[in-house]
Amino acid sequence: MPRKDLQPLQIYRLLPRTNCKLCGCPTCYAFAFNLISRSRRVEDCPELLKDEFGESFRALKKMLGEGERIAGSDHVLDRSRCTGCGDCVAVCIRALTTITKNGRLAQRAAVPPPLKVMDGRLQVVEWSSCKRAVPGLDICNLCAEKCPFSALDLVKPEEPDQEDS
Ligand code: SF4
Ligand code: SF4
Ligand code: SF4
Repeated sequence: MPRKDLQPLQIYRLLPRTNCKLCGCPTCYAFAFNLISRSRRVEDCPELLKDEFGESFRALKKMLGEGERIAGSDHVLDRSRCTGCGDCVAVCIRALTTITKNGRLAQRAAVPPPLKVMDGRLQVVEWSSCKRAVPGLDICNLCAEKCPFSALDLVKPEEPDQEDS
């Protein structure tokens, strides 16, 4: 199943469900949302590191992949898969007729590209230029869709609208 189709309940079922808060989340259900948005990593739940939850730990790692959030962006990069090919950078520059600057649309030439390959890995160098930085324009997925190595994903921070009991 693609990572973008993961549901919090699928994740939650694999968690210890003690609501101990050691991960910094108020509930295990909230932690499930944070795993999907990549705001937390599986390793942030100390309970999951115990032998008794080894099977759940491995299943979660498999479901969520190895990607880590690039700080200050919606981009999640699996560094082990990123070759630095630059396809995502090129598709972003080519496809966007307008990008964003300080919360408003601007001509592409007026703002620097959001993505750049540095030291052989993708970096987000101008988050404010990304369409996803503006509410209502967060539907762009081009860079992740065009990555030939499935190294890139895009997620939004999400807050759970319900808690488990
Ligand atoms: S540390 Fe683990 S068990 Fe405790 S609330 Fe967080 S996810 Fe649940
Ligand atoms: S994220 Fe994908 S498309 Fe972008 S540089 Fe890395 S491998 Fe290439
Ligand atoms: S989400 Fe769209 S605008 Fe943002 S970096 Fe990727 S392709 Fe460019």
